Amino acid sequence: MTANSLVESDRTHLIHPVTAFRTHEKRGATVLTEGKGMYLSDIEGNRLLDAFAGLWCVNVGYGQESIVEAAAEQMRRLPYATGYFHYANEPAIRLAERLAELSPPGLDRVYFTLGGSDAVDSAIRFIVHYFNATGRPAKKQMIALDKGYHGSSTTGAGLTGLPAFHRQFDVPHAWQHHIPAPYAYRSPVGSDPQAIIDHSVAQLRAKVEELGAGNVAAFFAEPVQGSGGVIVPPKGWLKAMRALCDELDILLVVDEVITGFGRTGPMFGCEHEGVSPDLMTVAKGLTSGYAPMGAVLMNDKVYAGIADGPDNHLPIGHGFTYSGHPVSAAVGLEVMRLYTEGGILGNGQVRGVRLGEGLAALADHPLVGDVRHTGMLAALELVADKRTKARFDGALDISNRLATAGYRNGIIFRAFADGTIGLAPAISCDADDMEVLLARLR
Ligand code: PLP
Repeated sequence: MTANSLVESDRTHLIHPVTAFRTHEKRGATVLTEGKGMYLSDIEGNRLLDAFAGLWCVNVGYGQESIVEAAAEQMRRLPYATGYFHYANEPAIRLAERLAELSPPGLDRVYFTLGGSDAVDSAIRFIVHYFNATGRPAKKQMIALDKGYHGSSTTGAGLTGLPAFHRQFDVPHAWQHHIPAPYAYRSPVGSDPQAIIDHSVAQLRAKVEELGAGNVAAFFAEPVQGSGGVIVPPKGWLKAMRALCDELDILLVVDEVITGFGRTGPMFGCEHEGVSPDLMTVAKGLTSGYAPMGAVLMNDKVYAGIADGPDNHLPIGHGFTYSGHPVSAAVGLEVMRLYTEGGILGNGQVRGVRLGEGLAALADHPLVGDVRHTGMLAALELVADKRTKARFDGALDISNRLATAGYRNGIIFRAFADGTIGLAPAISCDADDMEVLLARLR
């Protein structure tokens, strides 16, 4: 197929996620063809520095041959094995054990999914099951944050706190609720860290009182809100939310789909605060995007509640054909090795400091309203007027213009609809590539 006929066929047949169908038919796609290290090539022959690790997932960079080998070897040996009933496969068992070792204390039970949305969906299903099985069937209301993203499943899209994912989809459901995000730059209580923490605590407390603590099951949060524009809560925020969930007897679910696997420095985002959630969802960096996979980790309280419920002799009716897929699990195991013994986690910690310095130097740019950064995750919120924090006129189509400007300068980042630039480079990024990234961004 020629480049033109591919682009034409894409317009005609391929439906793109989170994209307006008719706009896409007119605009067409940038067809990516190859990746090596930090760089992507497209069908036009352009070489682009990927400052967004695909979709915040390719943490180890493109072209890691040892992952290719692990996948090929597993495909030859056993390309598929069900996890249903009492079957298992070695990579899935070993990866579950490895995740239990690497994750915050207590999260020892692992349920594999295909990605983040079904990890969140599975967490919701397990929570419902848990409260039914432990004799508290009224506890069904779930609370999340405005600007949170918890995937696009029929249930998870309602916990997502971004209007674009609700529009025309009839979510949130009646049992899904939201409280304001800890968004310092535009917070009604100002940017003082303690004031922001106190505000979130007061908002969650008020929402639980309104619904009745006996009716509330869980609070969902990302350690850093990714798709909401990389909103980094103040230090102490997650710890305060953990304490409040304990006090109110509701489960804490931490969604680490973006923040997991070194994205913010440590292996998991909640390690910054020494927090262990009741359930944790992961995906993306679990396989570094080389194969689809996600997981829900749960502590023994939740596991035992389900395991020892009144129907405990009956199958727990929740399962996917590809849960614990051996090829994805073999990929995940090799990716874990690269993070730890391969030194990539440590590399990301060093490079993240330079990313923070480089972005801080952009703070005086006339368009940069706010710089948000933690580890290898960052955002520049661009504004039309720094004094009033006014956003760009919607008619400017700022997101498309930013993406196009990036493309012309040889860099791919996330261009959010409100004019925010999101950055999540591979944590394997070397010192030279980081300088190229910062120069092209400026
Ligand atoms: N949760 C969070 C925090 C995410 O960022 C995402 C995806 O970006 C998801 C869940 C959904 O994951 P997936 O796209 O793999 O279904």
